[in-house]
Amino acid sequence: MKVRTRVTASFVAIVVLMVVVDIIAVVPYRLILSSSEGRAAVDQAALAVLRVNVDVYAFTGPLAAATSSADVRRLKGEAAVLRGAFGGDVDRAERLIVSSTHLAGDATIRGALDAIKAGLPFQLDRIVALAAAGDWPAARLRLAYDVPPLVDISSVLVDRLESAVAHEREAADARAQGARQLFVVVVIATLAALLMAVGLAWSTTRAITKPLAVLEAGAHALARGDFQHRITLTGSHELAGLGSAFNYAVDRIGELFAERERAEEQLRRSQADLAHVTKITTVSELAASLAHEIRQPMTAAMTDVKTSLRWLSRDEPDTAEARAAATRAVQDVTRATEIISRIRSLFKQDDQQRQLLDVNDVIDEMVPLLRGEAHRYGVSIRADLDRGVPPIMADRVQVQQVLMNLMLNGIEAMKETRGHLIVMSRASQQDVLISVSDTGVGLAPEHGDQMFNAFFTTKAQGTGMGLSISRSIVHSHGGRLWADANAGPGATFSFTLPIADGR
Ligand code: ADP
Repeated sequence: MKVRTRVTASFVAIVVLMVVVDIIAVVPYRLILSSSEGRAAVDQAALAVLRVNVDVYAFTGPLAAATSSADVRRLKGEAAVLRGAFGGDVDRAERLIVSSTHLAGDATIRGALDAIKAGLPFQLDRIVALAAAGDWPAARLRLAYDVPPLVDISSVLVDRLESAVAHEREAADARAQGARQLFVVVVIATLAALLMAVGLAWSTTRAITKPLAVLEAGAHALARGDFQHRITLTGSHELAGLGSAFNYAVDRIGELFAERERAEEQLRRSQADLAHVTKITTVSELAASLAHEIRQPMTAAMTDVKTSLRWLSRDEPDTAEARAAATRAVQDVTRATEIISRIRSLFKQDDQQRQLLDVNDVIDEMVPLLRGEAHRYGVSIRADLDRGVPPIMADRVQVQQVLMNLMLNGIEAMKETRGHLIVMSRASQQDVLISVSDTGVGLAPEHGDQMFNAFFTTKAQGTGMGLSISRSIVHSHGGRLWADANAGPGATFSFTLPIADGR
């Protein structure tokens, strides 16, 4: 399953669980509410009926007194008071019974109430009418025989309501018990929902964090330079794809690293070759190089010869030791001779290696070669080439050497400041012009042209040979090499090389 689908499904499941639990929780709430409402209605109705019962009981006493006194006015007054109190109470009891769902359907209660409601005012009217007609004995008889059955009905009504109240109370208790049990269910359901939510969240989080940990381990291995480390992501197609993409990227980075190492090795070799050729190019350089290289074997030879002489000039000459020392001296001198002939052979080769050359090719080779060195100091290199320059007749390695000297000097001049190096080629009537501009420290006017002298340097690690060798190479090809201060910061070093004959 996709990670996104999984996360969405988890959230939907959690929301649904919560809604279900809420719905379950509503049921006991409604049960308790309806049972308390039902009880209150029955209780109120019972109270109202009790009042009616009291009215009915209160009927006989005052009326009996009034009929005994045979005072019609008093009887009428008592009857009016009783009727008023009874009418209000019986209406209220009827209203409450009708509105109570538990009592409204009880025919006995309704019947009893109707009988009292109609019977009592009727008897009252009859008694008052008999008294008004002066028939007091008949009025008393009616009061003694027709009213007590109504009192009995009222008592039945009260009994009935009492049992209804008791019944309702029991039902309410049963509902409350049910609600309590439902509450337990709600608590259990809530806990279950919580547990499920935690489980879902845990499994979803794990589905995300587990591949992240694998990726992190892969990234660490990559940072350590371990290009063999492979990762496997499972759980979904996306993750499996991500794992393969990561492994592919590691492969590619490994290849690029290997390529870069090969290129760096190549660059180191090229620089070493060029440095070596630089060392032995000009006569003055040759002299310095020769002196340095053969000083060590010649000094050794001198020591060996002196040792040999000492062994021979003893009172008892030790010819064996003398021979050994002389043999070492011969080996030293042979080494010195080899050095000289190696340098000579290099010179001879130089003469043979002049060829038709497109200077743009040399620049195109040199720019990427020095780009790494330039990047180290935050220097950018740009080539601005005239692709129509005619070929020249020159020694490729020596032209490379001149260009490399000028470009390295330019980069070094921008070491502290960063900046841009521009290598340019242009053609004129007889020459090809190559110039190298930098935005570095610039030329010191007091040094003038001295920088082209051998051994002139302003650098702590400098040899002061680069420009002098470059100038002699350019001169030997029939060209010129010079330096100009830029209008802005930096300097421009330019050299010309004559166009090959026949062009
Ligand atoms: P090195 O680089 O060993 O000092 P060079 O003969 O190549 O020998 O240069 C001689 C001197 O010329 C440098 O020490 C420096 O003072 C000056 N120089 C060469 N190139 C530049 C340049 N692009 N900008 C400023 N000064 C330069």
